[in-house]
Amino acid sequence: MTESTAPQAEHRTVLLRGGEVHSPADPFATAMVVERGHIAWVGSEGAADAFATGVDEVIDLEGALVTPAFTDAHVHTTATGLALTGLDLSGARSLTEALDLVRAHSAAHPADTVLLGHGWDTARWPEQRPPSRAQLDEASGSRPLYLPRVDVHSAVVTTALLDLVPGITDLAGYHPDAPLTAAAHHAVRAAAHAAITPAQRAAAQRAALARAASLGIGTVHECAGPEISDEDDFTSLLELAGAEPGPRVVGYWAERVEGAKDARRIRELGAIGAAGDLFVDGSLGSHTACLHTPYADAAHTGTGHLDSAAVAAHVTACTEAGLQAGFHAIGDAALTAVTDGIRTAADTLGLARVRAARHRVEHAEMLTPETIAAFAEFGLTASVQPAFDAAWGGGDGMYAQRLGAERARTLNPYAALLRAGVPLAFGSDSPVTP
Ligand SMILES: [Zn+2]
Repeated sequence: MTESTAPQAEHRTVLLRGGEVHSPADPFATAMVVERGHIAWVGSEGAADAFATGVDEVIDLEGALVTPAFTDAHVHTTATGLALTGLDLSGARSLTEALDLVRAHSAAHPADTVLLGHGWDTARWPEQRPPSRAQLDEASGSRPLYLPRVDVHSAVVTTALLDLVPGITDLAGYHPDAPLTAAAHHAVRAAAHAAITPAQRAAAQRAALARAASLGIGTVHECAGPEISDEDDFTSLLELAGAEPGPRVVGYWAERVEGAKDARRIRELGAIGAAGDLFVDGSLGSHTACLHTPYADAAHTGTGHLDSAAVAAHVTACTEAGLQAGFHAIGDAALTAVTDGIRTAADTLGLARVRAARHRVEHAEMLTPETIAAFAEFGLTASVQPAFDAAWGGGDGMYAQRLGAERARTLNPYAALLRAGVPLAFGSDSPVTP
């Protein structure tokens, strides 16, 4: 759908006909009337004749499909905008090509600017390895540069960016010459983002929301939090989205809630839930999704950030405060921790109260029949990303590399979720996928 920008257009009555109007109110609708910016009627061609003379304008849809505006249920708005306005490595076909892109982008910016990039994936490169720090220092002309991997769970950086983070070498996930993960990664990301000016940030947010609108997306769920963004970023986005035309932004803040005071503070930020990327684990691409049995291509089971007791405490406190709770959970062990924790909360508060709070789980990729049944039982919404499966699924995709073909085949069981009665919310996790 297009957005009308001329103010007088909002007061016109328009009949659209000859299309395919997707509406649960009338599955065979081909026409609709829009009055003062609202849909006043949906129906069939024959009935549309009655409106044809009384409207300001008749638009022939020529068979086009008309749907309600889409909702993207998992978005990182500022990061998406920074990716749109920053260095995009998702098209780089090799390490050499990526370094050339870094060189060109760096040359176009003043020496003291913090540079941000995105989208590298060594799985697509013949070299099969990320750039070394020395290579990045050279290519960036010694500028501070933050380059997260495509899944944004690890990053390569320059020495100049490390210099902005005192004590970085003592943090978990720091490697002298390999992508940074865990605490070290979060610290460099925070330092890079802290160096962005409010004007740069607002420009990025506008770019992201304009892109969403151009794709027919009328609502985005912003998944913010202290580890992946910051309070200023979150509140400035909600303020900007409220003040300017464009998609509606629904805010989630990923911070653990221990009592009514935390819940109140999160509401005051403007969030409707303490959910989104509240990390129970990481990602499959970075070997940080938490598994029951080891990776096929690494001798460990990933990283768990929250156990079932922590999940139970968060869900209990949120439910008591009437706040939606949620988690980021990808691996089977992470999803078991989530459902076990929610079971404990339901035992304490009663199943009906937990269901009524409509808690949600992001990604939920490595589900089992048991965890699917638990999702249905607890009334959880699965906030899923079909584009992940398109990008990394399949017999020889990244999921099969990480997990072996047999386990990889069981990922993202959307049909099984629907059959079990679990609502699916679709999202892009942009900028992870477009
Ligand atoms: Zn996310």
